[in-house]
Amino acid sequence: MTDVGDAAQVLVAVAVSLPVRHTLTYAVPERLRAAVLPGAQVLVPVRSRKVRGVVVGPHEGLMPKRVCSISAAFAEDPAIPPELLAFVLALARYYDSPLGEALKLALPPADAKATRGIFDDADVPELRATNAQRTRKWAVWTGGDAPALPKALKAQAVAVRLRAAGAMPVAELEVEFSGALAVLRRKGLEGLVRVEERAIPLATFLDIVARDVPPALVDEQAAALTAMHEKVALGTPGTVLLHGVTGSGKTEVYLRMVAEVRRADKGVIVIVPEIALTPQLVSRYRARFGDDVAVVHSGLTLTERGGMWQRMRNGSVRVAIGARSVLFAPIERLGLIVVDEEHDPSYKQEEGVRYHGRDMAMLRAHRAGALCILGTATPSIETEHLVRTGRVTRLRLTKRATESALPKVEIINLRTTGAGPSGDKRLSLPLHRAIEKTLEKGEQTILFLNRRGFAPAVRCGGCGKPVECGACSIAMTFHKRSSELRCHLCDAAQVMPAQCPQCRSPDLMLEGVGTEKLEELLAVNFPKARVARLDRDVASGIKSAAILQRMRDGEIDILVGTQMVTKGHDLPRVTLVGVIAGDASLSMPDFRASERVFHLLVQVAGRAGRANLPGRVLVQAYDPQHPAIRYAAKHDVDGFLDEELKAREELRFPPFSHLINLRIEGRDEAKTVDVARRVSSALACAEVGVLGPSPAPILRIRNVFRWRVLLRAASRQPLRQALRRLDALRPELVSTVRIIVDVDPIQLL
Ligand code: ADP
Ligand code: ZN
Ligand code: ZN
Repeated sequence: MTDVGDAAQVLVAVAVSLPVRHTLTYAVPERLRAAVLPGAQVLVPVRSRKVRGVVVGPHEGLMPKRVCSISAAFAEDPAIPPELLAFVLALARYYDSPLGEALKLALPPADAKATRGIFDDADVPELRATNAQRTRKWAVWTGGDAPALPKALKAQAVAVRLRAAGAMPVAELEVEFSGALAVLRRKGLEGLVRVEERAIPLATFLDIVARDVPPALVDEQAAALTAMHEKVALGTPGTVLLHGVTGSGKTEVYLRMVAEVRRADKGVIVIVPEIALTPQLVSRYRARFGDDVAVVHSGLTLTERGGMWQRMRNGSVRVAIGARSVLFAPIERLGLIVVDEEHDPSYKQEEGVRYHGRDMAMLRAHRAGALCILGTATPSIETEHLVRTGRVTRLRLTKRATESALPKVEIINLRTTGAGPSGDKRLSLPLHRAIEKTLEKGEQTILFLNRRGFAPAVRCGGCGKPVECGACSIAMTFHKRSSELRCHLCDAAQVMPAQCPQCRSPDLMLEGVGTEKLEELLAVNFPKARVARLDRDVASGIKSAAILQRMRDGEIDILVGTQMVTKGHDLPRVTLVGVIAGDASLSMPDFRASERVFHLLVQVAGRAGRANLPGRVLVQAYDPQHPAIRYAAKHDVDGFLDEELKAREELRFPPFSHLINLRIEGRDEAKTVDVARRVSSALACAEVGVLGPSPAPILRIRNVFRWRVLLRAASRQPLRQALRRLDALRPELVSTVRIIVDVDPIQLL
């Protein structure tokens, strides 16, 4: 501690990596003055510990009486650039997030690795690698056909899975069974499984890509670009919505704009929903800009990520492309941010700092004086509202860039249409015939079903209850290949029981259909067809690229999958798209359910007939009159937006109000409910409406009870004040119940 009386004292505000919302003030010792600049990383004393922190700026406000000094500064670390630093601080304020948490998003990868780094994608566990030789751990089955399986349930499940697969990367096993590596190392599996290091084949993204020749623009593309130039010339470009039907050449517009921004020697960030699913998209940027593109994805080693961060930071790479976390890339002199498929729900981060990638892209671009392009065929309701209220400019591309017409969409009413030759209603007669015809022509089919596994539930004929996960209030899914029940929320697995765990009846029935069953159904009914599946069970992360490549190479006739098949793949020989259960998720208790179904249907329909072959889309549904289905079938995006905006306005849901979801979670149900009640009665006021407290639609996950209190107000200010009242209340509440603040929530389950 030193006294502040000394006039020569330099005081700075430091955000430390502790869960506190405000900064702490420290004195800068003489020897560190050159290194301690805003954005620099430092080590500071907090009570008796030394803690990492980031210098945010000079100390402001009242002079403290006594302060501690900064212990060390990491001079060799590249500091967070000022523009990025200021942006992250604004983001933290917006989401009411602890500063240190938010700053971790922007730190160089090596420093953030212990927590969530800027390049960590949610889906794929870290691929560890040493030095130059990139390897990863594989688990290899060595137990033969009929081994004695271990007794412990998890070890047994892992063994069963490995016996079926032969060999699997440990990282992928970890996706299916959390803690798999630890299980592999435990007793009981020796002699059955070997763990070895294998070299990683170079990721598709890293291949050398031949340079392309830009096509001549069609009129609408040229007009969109002109409008963007005019905005850039104004100096305050703001945000534009590039609203173009699937295949209308939006990507070509982005590429032209990126080229221009580079010519002006400025930087670009391109955000895409799932980088692993879109290697083709990435190669279009590489074909245009070569090595000036940093492709940020989760298959990179820490060393590679670090190197990439440095190159962006020192300006030697000016285009960064990646999933939502690329928003925090240290790109210098930002001129453009592109958010592709802006409606995609994966842009919302659902843990840690719960930011929305699209909203924050607009904020960062605005603060940096950069242009922000939101591109989509189906604008989100939020973006559409911004357009209709004059805050975002819409630029339209109404026609496909190539000759191909939009596919014809037909709805099949499952209430009135019978099963095809398979005898299974989910493969209706018209869909069956359409698949047959497509096979005859040597063209490809995509079938979309948003449930992985074989059967989504196992129901007891005795007591009528489904078999639930022991830790979550949800039915377990039967997976046939591994012959086990798996919980899709907590990944718990167990061997298929012989009798109902509730009433001991042996009468257990498989219920519903998942992608695994659909794949089997097709293989049986179309024996000559080559059927493949794309979902999280067969292809996590970058592995999906291989399946899509086989599709492109014509080695697959029918591809079955979850929403992984709906993303922006450009597969020219796909002429039939079938949606097995179009309205399956409409019954979700969520005001965005209708919008989500609409987006999915239009996206998946857009996969059909991309090249010069005409496409056909069949949507099976029990409720064909639902607006999400009706408008998707007509390709009537504006009609859907009109109707949905009207409904939101009537119900006073966003964008006609602002929401904060307080997730209240604890292992003790009574205490959790009690906290939820106290919070909701303390926060309600004239300007803030409180919905709840109510149990979340999925009440229990991993033995944690989940309640929620939804705060709603016409403007943000009273919501901020409600959060301050919550802060004041927190010390009085039991500490074993967590309260998680989710500003502008997307996921309400
Ligand atoms: P979107 O991003 O809107 O779905 P894409 O940019 O993928 O559309 O374009 C669809 C197809 O049209 C691609 O194969 C692309 O190469 C082609 N394309 C785009 N613009 C033009 C153009 N001006 N002339 C010819 N082909 C084009
Ligand atoms: Zn029973
Ligand atoms: Zn579970």
